[in-house]
Amino acid sequence: MVITYTIRNSLYVNLTNHCTNRCTFCVRETAPGEYPDLWLEREPTLAEILEDLSSYKTLNKFSEIVFCGYGEPTCRLYDMLETCRRLREMTSTPIRVNTNGHASLILEEDTAPLFKGLVDCVSISLNAPDSETYARLCRPRFGEDTFSGVIKFAREVVKYVPSVVLTAVRGTITDEELERCAAIAQEIGAKFRARDYIG
Ligand code: SF4
Repeated sequence: MVITYTIRNSLYVNLTNHCTNRCTFCVRETAPGEYPDLWLEREPTLAEILEDLSSYKTLNKFSEIVFCGYGEPTCRLYDMLETCRRLREMTSTPIRVNTNGHASLILEEDTAPLFKGLVDCVSISLNAPDSETYARLCRPRFGEDTFSGVIKFAREVVKYVPSVVLTAVRGTITDEELERCAAIAQEIGAKFRARDYIG
């Protein structure tokens, strides 16, 4: 079971294969056989995650530790945050969370304050400039209100996390829509990054 893996100089943590979206461009949909090691036969327990991280002689050699993988890490928000807490004791390497921004929808409460002091960067997949486009591209479990939920989470989490980046995937929306996404990020006080399509 692959719990952690490295890409260039970053260490990635693969907590879950669950996600509350079914994005049309997700590699899980477009190329499910592409990264077979990232399909977990079962979710690792918190103890297994911590044991895996402890097996590295040092975590300081990594430029970043990223919660990402083949699913949405905030589907296991409390385990993820506890892992961050333990990582803070083990290393000064910065921690990033790549998320669809659904944490507060999943837990049905404002989860943004929980990130304070534990996460250095949150990268939120905004993916669309409006609710209708988001629903079409991301097919979220929470229905039409999901997009406003993502925006609300982004607005809150900028208060607690030093770096917040909203992203959208180049090629899945028009350049004009990308610009509108960038404008949303600016208005929220976050950065914006257009990601390349991997399909
Ligand atoms: S939010 Fe991420 S993991 Fe979930 S379906 Fe979309 S691209 Fe895939």
